[in-house]
Amino acid sequence: MLITTEGFILKNKKYGETDSILTIFTRKAGKINAIAKGARRPKSNLLAGIQPFCYSEFVLYKGRNLYTVSQCDAKEIFYPLREDLKKLSYAAYLVELVEAVITEGQTNNRLFNLFGKTLYLLKKDDVEINTIVRAFEIKLMNYSGYKPQLSGCVHCNRKEASSWKFSSTEGGIICPLCLSIDPYAMKIGSTTIKLATYLLTRDMVEIQRLKISSYLNDELKKILKQYILTHVSKYDFKSLEVAEKLE
Ligand SMILES: [Zn+2]
Repeated sequence: MLITTEGFILKNKKYGETDSILTIFTRKAGKINAIAKGARRPKSNLLAGIQPFCYSEFVLYKGRNLYTVSQCDAKEIFYPLREDLKKLSYAAYLVELVEAVITEGQTNNRLFNLFGKTLYLLKKDDVEINTIVRAFEIKLMNYSGYKPQLSGCVHCNRKEASSWKFSSTEGGIICPLCLSIDPYAMKIGSTTIKLATYLLTRDMVEIQRLKISSYLNDELKKILKQYILTHVSKYDFKSLEVAEKLE
């Protein structure tokens, strides 16, 4: 069976003398593994479109265990991401998050569009990296079925409180009266709640130049890290640590 679909290269591993095994996040078939035969020969016409992060149009043949790439046209190669070590590390972090939340063969159109938009913004010069990475994390959780409740207490629905905490297990903010339901809930300031709501609800393109103070970024980063770890247990955040050491 032949499938024509757009996709992003998540991984590209050498296989044998001249082949590559690819992990591709496709729009129509979800995350798949595919072999690109002869792709590492210098004159291969697959070569350009199978580099990491590449957005390409694929013609794929579905075999019993593996897809085979029969055609591949590069549409956007995201070259600036491979040139800049810091951006490369953040892009690698986004890839790992996507890999952690989707299983093989699972499609996720909203996450597919978000991933493309975020890579496109990340390659630009005048972009606030922390802002788009935090926005990506919170939107990724939303599109994976874990939209955080930020408009009132997740337990009693109260809208007004003197202080709030964020409960990863309950999936939202909790008021002082409900604290006993999650002893591990983390402190979250009201400005951080507003910021998180903004990042969750606005389009990536709209928020790309928003500057976040390092205090707010740190608070939101810690909360999202715990939230992701609670629901995506196999993830270890090593690539994020590497990216941040390059600041
Ligand atoms: Zn409450």
